[in-house]
Amino acid sequence: MLDSLTVLIKDNKITQVAKEISFPNEYNIIDGTGQYLIPGLVDTHAHLHRSKNDLLLYLANGVTHIANNNSESDNLILKWRKEANEGALSPKIYIAAGGMSSKKGLIQRIKTLFGDAIKYNTPTQARRAVRKFKSQGYDAIKSYNPNTEVHFALTDEAEKQGIPVIGHLPPSVGLEDFYNSGQSQLAHVEEITKSTIKEFGGMWSDNSEEYLKYLKTNADQIAIKLKEKNIVVSSTLWIIESIPKQNFDIDNFLKTIELEYQNPGQIEGSQLAKGWLPGNNSYENMAIKNSAEQIKNHKLFWKTYVHAMHIMIKALIKNGVTVTAGTDSNGPGVVAGFSLLDELESLNRCGLTESQVLYAATVAPAQWMQSNAGKVEIGRRADLILLTKNPLEDIKNTRTINAVITNGKYLDRITLDKILLSIRLANNNSRKINIDKFLN
Ligand SMILES: [Zn+2]
Repeated sequence: MLDSLTVLIKDNKITQVAKEISFPNEYNIIDGTGQYLIPGLVDTHAHLHRSKNDLLLYLANGVTHIANNNSESDNLILKWRKEANEGALSPKIYIAAGGMSSKKGLIQRIKTLFGDAIKYNTPTQARRAVRKFKSQGYDAIKSYNPNTEVHFALTDEAEKQGIPVIGHLPPSVGLEDFYNSGQSQLAHVEEITKSTIKEFGGMWSDNSEEYLKYLKTNADQIAIKLKEKNIVVSSTLWIIESIPKQNFDIDNFLKTIELEYQNPGQIEGSQLAKGWLPGNNSYENMAIKNSAEQIKNHKLFWKTYVHAMHIMIKALIKNGVTVTAGTDSNGPGVVAGFSLLDELESLNRCGLTESQVLYAATVAPAQWMQSNAGKVEIGRRADLILLTKNPLEDIKNTRTINAVITNGKYLDRITLDKILLSIRLANNNSRKINIDKFLN
């Protein structure tokens, strides 16, 4: 932490950081006396859909940079990225295309017709897609669930085209082959723990202790191999911690999140798509067959599942793997922007220090995306947050946002509150289901 500094911003760049600066009169002066200046935060696992208000929700929470991990409206997101680059009020957007899968069988083929996932069954199809995405200007390609052949064709072609492959650990590939597959990022820590559960032979309530022992003996080795290959991992811890809460206690869970800011269409869902509210939430009562014994076992399963995430994250950090903060925003319960601040607290509770957490949400993701944001440094993009309390003393202090500077634009607390209010009012106007009982 540095004391008593002046930061000079011209247009959208930081042009000077020093103790004594003399500057011409035309500069606006923002007095940050007694406050704390940190780089804008990054969410490395976002899903934008059609709700443009999400962009403002990010900014209002100090999230000035996001990595969109594919969406059904990718063309729209490319347009938003262009507008953002031309100066629109928005976080900086990095876009991964695809959600590349291989699917066989009639039902899967029908689902594909309705845009369920993008299907690539042959290496030729995959290579063609990589070239197409590259020419369309995507920043990365997301692997989701391709067969082994398709995955390796994907990473090989992507290397030739100079575009990174990020995303899931394809179940068809498995950890051992994954290290050498050329994929440079994992979209969830969960991808690793899921893979270890598979290797262990499955985990349920009666072998959960043995599984955790197995994971503890193997976690360091896995982390070392990821580190050797420079594979970056996005955390998405909070959403996993939320699943048992949504599963067993949805009403109370919804009271703990900023539900009124989330797009109403999305929380309400439809006949075709699940939403977030009780009765239509995809995590609610997952696989509970009602007997007390089964519920007890199911709770133990989720406790173990979350515990495994914590073990793995600690091993990644201990062995120097780059972990970046990510939320899987717009997944059930995960409100854009607000959820990144939850993620920071989850990482802190998991055992990362305040400075490790901030690193995971600023320097590390900027490095991963080769972005010039992420640091308070000359030449960097002016993405900054002014906090009233010290985030290095308590990570919760990242919530004490007094102002956000995004791409050089200054949004004071009054402006941020106006933005939030307007989103709340707009949502209330288009709501079909009353959510008052979930609001505090
Ligand atoms: Zn996702």
